[in-house]
Amino acid sequence: MGSFERKVLVLDARFEPVKVVTMEAGFVLMYAGRVSVILESDRVIHGVSRTWKVPWIVRLEGCRPRTKRLNGPRFSRQNIYLRDGFRCQYCNWSGPCSNLTLDHLIPSAKGGKTTWENIVTACKTCNMKKGAKTIEELGIRLQRPPSRPHLHPTALFPLRYGLTTKNSPVVWVPYLDLSVADRAFAVGFDSSPVFIPAFQHGMGIQF
Ligand SMILES: [Zn+2]
Repeated sequence: MGSFERKVLVLDARFEPVKVVTMEAGFVLMYAGRVSVILESDRVIHGVSRTWKVPWIVRLEGCRPRTKRLNGPRFSRQNIYLRDGFRCQYCNWSGPCSNLTLDHLIPSAKGGKTTWENIVTACKTCNMKKGAKTIEELGIRLQRPPSRPHLHPTALFPLRYGLTTKNSPVVWVPYLDLSVADRAFAVGFDSSPVFIPAFQHGMGIQF
């Protein structure tokens, strides 16, 4: 359970996860009538003269589900690795992030841009072999053509908090899609530089 022992999972009206908050913040939401309790717990916080129970999972009341998403995933090294499934797009090798690198399909020396469509994950061996050549010159076939990724926000949620099957409270697991995060953290994904800005602002609640 680890670092999530004193946290509350907040769901939206569709029962999709939107935030992990401290027990104190979860209690404030509940006390203010902003959320309904989905799952109670025996965990308590202590006030001056009494203690209060704090739930494990709450659901935002009267919160319209998010309809717009800003901009999509940020263009970053980690997000390109994620899009490519942590696999070299030239030889299909998969391993720790420390042995992966990024490669321009059309080398920048030949006018290649640094975009979703021209950058792929490559292992260090392929990256060296390729050098400043194009894949056509080397006769390499890509695993799949690169494009701007469409990653499902539910699968991205655990990445923001470092949630995996190993450290998620068991009672949260039915509400989380941990498949992407389990794979990502196993190969050294760094959760710090993450992700979709829309995700972090949709609730209108600040703590
Ligand atoms: Zn390779």
